[in-house]
Amino acid sequence: MTSNKDISKFNISTQLTQLGRDPAEQYGFVNAPLYKGSTIIYNTLEDIEQKRARFSYGTTGSPTIANLESAWTQLAGAAGTVMSPSGLGAITLAIFTTTKAGDHLLMPDCTYRPTRNFCNNLLAKYGVETTYYDPMIGGDIEKLIKPNTSTIFLEAPGSQSFEVQDVPAIVKVAKKHGIKTIIDNTWATPIFFRAHEHGIDLSVEAGTKYLGGHSDILLGMVSANEACWPELRATYDYMAMLPGADDCILALRGLRTMHLRLKEAERRGLEMAAWLKARPEVQKVLHPAFDDCPGHENWKRDFLGSSGLFSIILNEQFTKSDVANMLDNMSVFSMGFSWGGYESLIIPFNCTDYRTVTQWKPEGFSLRLQIGLEDMDDLKKDLDEGFSRMNMNS
Ligand SMILES: *Cc1c(COP(=O)(O)O)cnc(C)c1O
Repeated sequence: MTSNKDISKFNISTQLTQLGRDPAEQYGFVNAPLYKGSTIIYNTLEDIEQKRARFSYGTTGSPTIANLESAWTQLAGAAGTVMSPSGLGAITLAIFTTTKAGDHLLMPDCTYRPTRNFCNNLLAKYGVETTYYDPMIGGDIEKLIKPNTSTIFLEAPGSQSFEVQDVPAIVKVAKKHGIKTIIDNTWATPIFFRAHEHGIDLSVEAGTKYLGGHSDILLGMVSANEACWPELRATYDYMAMLPGADDCILALRGLRTMHLRLKEAERRGLEMAAWLKARPEVQKVLHPAFDDCPGHENWKRDFLGSSGLFSIILNEQFTKSDVANMLDNMSVFSMGFSWGGYESLIIPFNCTDYRTVTQWKPEGFSLRLQIGLEDMDDLKKDLDEGFSRMNMNS
């Protein structure tokens, strides 16, 4: 637990150093100890009958989990937070909180693909219908609302394609119709986008990414505003799918440097995106801070920064084998899913097959880059050599 000192008056980096720990309760140690376990001991018959304990059983949490929950609640400006063993788990927890059989859900066409999978398969099986919408729809989302629409899901920017949604316009429509909003805020984190201050009810974060920051944990968080907190907590308690304590300790450690790492990811992301934009091989840079990116104006208006993940579209002349020449032989960038760690990644992607209401028809190959903490000149040299290999047959 954070001590009772009021730290909300401090700026975010100061808060991040103080959240979720209380040396006075930890024999003076700076960091809180690791608690693992199932059974909690009660002293009297009265105590056990009344479940008189801060934690009644391991599934309801532990000091370690509570430290991270309370830290995230404060960082997100929320009323409460629950955790999940993965970001996808957190997304499903949020959707289960605001939907029931017979309901209708609106989902952006740019959403993280496993979220789409969940909606089309498991959620459909439980009688919730999903309609996909153009992420750039803005206030016109009102036309898609049905009497049974319970939830509008948002993801800004979109996974891989980076459309930045008009969150205020969508939230306004949702509020008018008494519809709950959920956002996947993984890219920006609460440091660069204040979801609850923009009226979002439930905000999801894959802690796997920038909170963990080292590609060594899987974790998800859902934070809720006052109105949705009791239902979110209840949904979590029905399932008790909680992360392991060791991962929570790593997340608490990640929290201390998250601000620093994000600021650095931003600086590097911007520098690399600008460098790529000037390359003749690159047709388009999909980075929310660049005006090629759909919704760039929304990003400028609503976001406080940008992180280190963005995409590029290559010129159309390059074939798959040209791109393979580049990607198969990189020496600093690696190919792999996920992001937010210290290492640079580059992956090809194609949204054409699964989009249903918008078309993804770039002229050339699409690549997504995560800029890590390697030397910028080494990274540029690696890409420069990659482009030379790509150009060999052209
Ligand atoms: C990675 C990711 C998730 C899922 O996180 P996992 O912990 O890998 O399940 C959810 N949303 C977005 C936008 C992501 O990039």
